[in-house]
Amino acid sequence: MRILAALLSIILAAASVGSVGAADDTTPAKELFGRVKAPAALPAAAIGSYARGCLAGGKQLSIDGPAWQAMRLSRNRNWGHPRLISLVERLAKEAQKYDRWPGLLVGDISQPRGGPMLTGHASHQIGLDVDIWFTPMPDRRLTEKEREELSAISMLGPDKLSVDPNIWTESHVRLVKRAASYPEVDRIFVHPAIKKALCEGADKVGSDRSWLRKVRPYWGHYYHFHIRLSCPPGNASCKNQPAPPPGDGCGKELSDWLALIASPPKPKGPPPKPKPPMTLAQLPAECRAVLTADAPPTVEAEAPIKPPAPVPATRSKPAQ
Ligand SMILES: [Zn+2]
Repeated sequence: MRILAALLSIILAAASVGSVGAADDTTPAKELFGRVKAPAALPAAAIGSYARGCLAGGKQLSIDGPAWQAMRLSRNRNWGHPRLISLVERLAKEAQKYDRWPGLLVGDISQPRGGPMLTGHASHQIGLDVDIWFTPMPDRRLTEKEREELSAISMLGPDKLSVDPNIWTESHVRLVKRAASYPEVDRIFVHPAIKKALCEGADKVGSDRSWLRKVRPYWGHYYHFHIRLSCPPGNASCKNQPAPPPGDGCGKELSDWLALIASPPKPKGPPPKPKPPMTLAQLPAECRAVLTADAPPTVEAEAPIKPPAPVPATRSKPAQ
């Protein structure tokens, strides 16, 4: 039965590679990358930029760990550069140990080979972005159905310009601070109201404020925060972003953002024509090789658990 399943997966993998090979340059890249179910068996590399690129040698985050659970499993987006997967595991364990954070609920990372997605994000294409829920992990293993349906909780109060003090806690501040303090983290995106809460809460969790520089206000991001790693060393085709402006970003930049949230600009004129979807030709050239590379050989299923030794017919009573 297992041989049959393995054979079937090889045939399916070959079929999907075949269809990729046949794709012309006009096929939207999100269809090509969205269709591939397994990573490219190549050395790990983030290729291109966060919103225009792909991922070689992607690693899958286990759906369950000692301090995390992956969410929305049907999306198959729990793949990332090995450096990012290690970081998520480390953050989960350290936040649980030091920050009174029960564990991480991990949202989208990337597709098995990165690239543009059929739904959702513009970024998350090179295996260096991950969304972490602000909702703490419950103290039990969620079912697959719950991982699809459980709603994340917004951190915002009714005014949308500040966090809800009944939901937002000091542990949230500690968690984001820890994430921002790892040197490989390039930046973290949060809603401006959350940046404000972090600016105000930073002094209660220590004297260091330098980590705030990496925490960038942005639209959305009140159900989750978005961690972005800088390019791993040796990934020559990976493009870093310019460093954030100096300082903690708690002054004018934040007040400008809050003003923007309070009265978003009214669109002028007719809505702009939607951009045509990105094609394979618009991605870095290496992404073609990533798309057509073999998948790693199917991992052998775990050895069956040995049946218990037969109980001897006569057994002496254990000594008291
Ligand atoms: Zn994100």
